Amino acid sequence: LAYAAAAKSEEQTKRQRYFAGNLSLTYSEPVMVLRGWCHHLFDEWGRVYLDAYNNVPHVGHAHPRIQNVAAEQLKRINSNTRYLHPAQTAFAEKILSKLPASFEVCFFVNSGSEANELALRLARAHTGDKGMITPDHGYHGNTTGAIDISAYKFAKPGGVGQADWVELVDVADDYRGRFGRNDPDRAQQFANLVDPAIAALKTKGHGVAGFIAETFPSVGGQIIPPDGYLPKVYEKIRAAGGVCIADEVQTGLGRLGEYYFGFEQQGAVPDVVVLGKPIGNGHPIGVVVTTRHIAEAFDNGIEFFSTFGGSTLSCRIGKEVLDIVDAENLQNNAKRMGDRLMTQLRDIEQRFDTVGDVRGMGLFVGVELINPDGSESPEICAYVKNRMRDHRILIGSEGPKDNILKIRPPLTIQADDIDMIAATLEKILAEVELWQS
Ligand code: PMP
Repeated sequence: LAYAAAAKSEEQTKRQRYFAGNLSLTYSEPVMVLRGWCHHLFDEWGRVYLDAYNNVPHVGHAHPRIQNVAAEQLKRINSNTRYLHPAQTAFAEKILSKLPASFEVCFFVNSGSEANELALRLARAHTGDKGMITPDHGYHGNTTGAIDISAYKFAKPGGVGQADWVELVDVADDYRGRFGRNDPDRAQQFANLVDPAIAALKTKGHGVAGFIAETFPSVGGQIIPPDGYLPKVYEKIRAAGGVCIADEVQTGLGRLGEYYFGFEQQGAVPDVVVLGKPIGNGHPIGVVVTTRHIAEAFDNGIEFFSTFGGSTLSCRIGKEVLDIVDAENLQNNAKRMGDRLMTQLRDIEQRFDTVGDVRGMGLFVGVELINPDGSESPEICAYVKNRMRDHRILIGSEGPKDNILKIRPPLTIQADDIDMIAATLEKILAEVELWQS
């Protein structure tokens, strides 16, 4: 046991020695995880944690089918897209089978950031323009181009600032935004903000290359845009000649329960869909899917190649993840478990003034914590998140003011786990009430 404690503190010391300070750790008492299984994690003492935070192990940590397919493929061959291998087209066919018929072409890369970079290039190749419109507080990745379209990064103190080819629109947050849930026209009102953004780009000499958004903004605070918002935006973008990019890294692949992709819920069909994180279940995979027409504009004589993107191993793993979602009915589980969680959270919302809003769909859930005056409370949020961690339930926090609890477990989560999350949250909110009184 002493060894376990020493191992953790040694790890913390070495981390400070070898890595930059902005490589952050979650929780005031960091967690060291040495094993994972399904939606559970095990620390240096072998203690179990409920993982209700990590959306990457989509089909569960250490899934035996992923272990097997990876081991089997590594024993045979792991090469690149310059050689033929049936795993490449099998993965593409599986992805395309989940998308509307207008999607015909897949590009394989290594991460969500890279996929968004490529989506930008596709939009520019197709339109010959550079200007991009994107909701405020969005996140699309850590590369130079992805940061330029990620207000969550460029607009922060120390950030690179807003490029002149980027225009921001309000995130369609009808809890805290400028058009509220009592306004039946809020979807149109939020969408109308795209008009001045298009005009602003034109004033600066930029045509509209496109619009990019996380379909349901996550770092913006687990936002579910009002029904019909996205089609209205897409209509305006297309009228201006732009390409509509849906970043489905967080919302895709069945997490929303009722919908395989977020854009389906909105009744919109994008021109480019970006996939990442969960599609590899921990293995680095990014995918861009688009129309034949856009892919042809990009096919201008310059080769597209990614050394590891579309590797034999990645294609085998990616397809296996999608197959497991189907075989284990995980989309349906996301719906049932998400509904169960939302019912309990809505009940909690009624009883605790600190809960300003509960929103979610499937296993994409946010709980907004507020002060008595209705303002955002990052303090309460940090307290709750860390107390949940003390109870060995891992959840995150999010939002421009970091006051929204983010619950986003692997799709394997079960009813007992959901009930434990709700019961523990309730206990901790009662503690908050005590120290508030
Ligand atoms: N898009 C979204 C919506 C994301 O959440 C993320 C990662 N959090 C990315 C893109 C970037 O993906 P990666 O970290 O794999 O580059």
